[in-house]
Amino acid sequence: MLIGLDIGGTKIMVAAADREGTILRRTRTATSSTLEEDLANINNMIAEVAAEDEIMGMGAAIGGPLDWEQGIVSPLHQPAWRDIPFKPTMEAKWNCPFHVDVDTNVAAVGEYRWGGISARRFLYLTISTGMGGGFLVDGRIYRGQDGAHPEVGHQSIHFRCSNPSAVQCECGAPDCLEALVSGSGIRRIYGKPAEELNVKEWEEVAYNLGQGLRNMATFYAPDVIRIGGGVAVGGGEVFIEAAQQVMQEHLKLVPAPDVSLSHLGYDTALRGAIAMALPKQDF
Ligand SMILES: [Zn+2]
Repeated sequence: MLIGLDIGGTKIMVAAADREGTILRRTRTATSSTLEEDLANINNMIAEVAAEDEIMGMGAAIGGPLDWEQGIVSPLHQPAWRDIPFKPTMEAKWNCPFHVDVDTNVAAVGEYRWGGISARRFLYLTISTGMGGGFLVDGRIYRGQDGAHPEVGHQSIHFRCSNPSAVQCECGAPDCLEALVSGSGIRRIYGKPAEELNVKEWEEVAYNLGQGLRNMATFYAPDVIRIGGGVAVGGGEVFIEAAQQVMQEHLKLVPAPDVSLSHLGYDTALRGAIAMALPKQDF
């Protein structure tokens, strides 16, 4: 029995799976405003999905920043969680290995392991409330200096926008990719959620994503890029195809990667957490 946790700013999902990654039982609850309540909920949910089976390992996806080696987490959008020694606490309580990593890294691992990827250089992007990515080289997570997580959503973009004065990233910069294509960016620019965008507005978002893809393809020269998250899944194949075309048009010097929508839908991070729970993993 493997346990996967996807801990987000609005909801927490917990699943029990077998070694092939098949989810046997799952449950979810809303994220609370206190750490104590969240931890109690998490432990109760694990007990519920594990039932009486022995737990071999656990994996967890959570927002950054965090120290993945020590397992100390401070997810930006969960103010109650600051410098929490999550890994040691969970290992002591459950007596099994516990891995925690930045949600986009975990999602990349899920897509790689269970989404039929065999490419040596694989970039996974998620576009939901915010935007980020995880880059795998030979199945291992690429990490920055001191374990820092590269923030691909915060690259500067030569963008097109019908309401340019509304482009403002939460990080403080005026021209981030995240501010143009994420759910919160779309809300700020167009005054409505992504699912209500018209064709012309989707084209604009796809153009800006395409410019971001072009930069990422140029920097990393990956074989494959898969894109998930609510905005990407909502925009669907048409949106991804339009962005891919913009990328291709502007991409020089490096080969174009294969770009497609995530194969795991809304469960990418949860399935990745299950993959991280497998024994003898080296990330
Ligand atoms: Zn930014």
